[in-house]
Amino acid sequence: MQTLGHLINGEIVTAGERYQDIFNPATGAIGKRLALASRDTVEQAIAAAREAFPAWRDTPPIKRARIMFRFKELLESNADKIAALIGEEHGKIVHDALGELQRGIENVEYACGAPELLKGEHSRNVGPAIDSWSEFQPLGVVAGITPFNFPAMVPLWMFPMALVCGNCFVLKPSERDPSSTLYIAQLLQEAGLPDGVMNVVNGDKEAVDTLLHDDRIQAVSFVGSTPIAEYIYSTATANGKRCQALGGAKNHAIVMPDADMDNAVNQLLGAAFGSSGERCMALSVAVAVGDAAADALVSKMSEAMTSLKVGAYMDSSNDFGPLITRQHREKVIGYINSAEAQGAQVVVDGRTVEVHGYENGFFVGGTLIDHVTTDMLSYQEEIFGPVLQVVRVQSMQQAMELIDAHEYGNGTCIFTRDGEAARYFSDHIQVGMVGINVPLPVPVAYHSFGGWKRSLFGDLHAYGPDAVRFYTRRKTITQRWPSAGVREGVEFSMPTMK
Ligand code: NAD
Repeated sequence: MQTLGHLINGEIVTAGERYQDIFNPATGAIGKRLALASRDTVEQAIAAAREAFPAWRDTPPIKRARIMFRFKELLESNADKIAALIGEEHGKIVHDALGELQRGIENVEYACGAPELLKGEHSRNVGPAIDSWSEFQPLGVVAGITPFNFPAMVPLWMFPMALVCGNCFVLKPSERDPSSTLYIAQLLQEAGLPDGVMNVVNGDKEAVDTLLHDDRIQAVSFVGSTPIAEYIYSTATANGKRCQALGGAKNHAIVMPDADMDNAVNQLLGAAFGSSGERCMALSVAVAVGDAAADALVSKMSEAMTSLKVGAYMDSSNDFGPLITRQHREKVIGYINSAEAQGAQVVVDGRTVEVHGYENGFFVGGTLIDHVTTDMLSYQEEIFGPVLQVVRVQSMQQAMELIDAHEYGNGTCIFTRDGEAARYFSDHIQVGMVGINVPLPVPVAYHSFGGWKRSLFGDLHAYGPDAVRFYTRRKTITQRWPSAGVREGVEFSMPTMK
């Protein structure tokens, strides 16, 4: 059986460490074995990054960008292989894996603009013959810790921008599906990145805690569940590091009585069940305004769900695949059971789905639950499965109050034909990413991604313009070359331009 190691200083290494099995979630079988980095292994990766930093810091941004151009080409020419690696370990269908990769590549394309993005700010004559400018210098060694659900895209949110800004990187991918991530990092070496600039350590809490406590790590980008995001943020910042930690979600879609219902159902279908609902932007709650809208939504949705096709990743006629682990499957089924026990109505039940030839896979079929109320556990917590819950309210104001009261504030959407209602919604709702008839409002690579409330700990969002600020430190230089005309005498008061 193949054992996956780490990428340290340009070499794949596997020290004699603890190991963890990696499953193929469609078959339920163990596919590979993963070495879990010890503290010592992580420290070697940090040392390699530290060693590579001075030369990389001084490499002109245009040369760093050229490596990204080659990297983009390699990602594109190896897309099928990357999608298959994602499918084997995550379970998502090949079309979805290719979509994830494409959204990741768009971040590489943005990073190719490094010389433009790093130009800084310049002011001439801030005083007599005095010029002042701000430079955006790299931080040093920075770390990324990523979740299982986007093993290619989320790492690509982080390291291309960190690297073109002049930093060296240590990435700790999810231990559940690390093959595509490790392979992508190797492509970066092939694109010409110097050894040590990008390192990957596979592992669990021991590896993460080593990164959080090491003084050589200047900043940490994290994406994962909220309890861990909060832990990462508090520990990293207590240790003097810059940190952005993106957490979990419970994304609501308001379905207004005037919505184009057929369109809303189609959009919701993909946004609730795509990738088995294992997306931080999945729409997992439909808030129907008025009973007529709710009845129409539930009836059209349950009919549309009869065509959902669940199966293994390589058959691209499938809509979505299995859940990531057997334990997660049990957890999702537990939430459906709890909703039923608390009085909700399971309209379409995916608990007993069977996929022919994959009887041991971690599958749950698309599930629709109506009459969900805010006191139910299944409403309060993130399910992260193919489950759409319908909450019934009587006004848009009630719907908005419900969304604002939820602990998460990642994404939301309104389906309506009323421009005024849509504008009021986007203006006031306490959520970071808002869609108007757009169910998955994931910002493109030249904007930035982040939720509000307990969906993000920190200030700056991920990727895009915020990433330039996150991965650089401002230095402001004020300069004068004294000559006879501007030489001044001694001045003890605060200099002003009066
Ligand atoms: P997770 O929090 O279990 O794991 C994320 C990372 O943290 C992994 O690399 C893991 O090894 C590490 N980790 C786990 N437990 C740890 C601990 N006790 N101490 C230190 N490190 C630890 O998340 P997951 O299950 O891999 O991913 C799913 C979650 O990620 C969902 O909650 C989803 O909403 C969230 N997510 C959020 C976004 C976003 O942008 N907000 C994007 C993708 C996923």
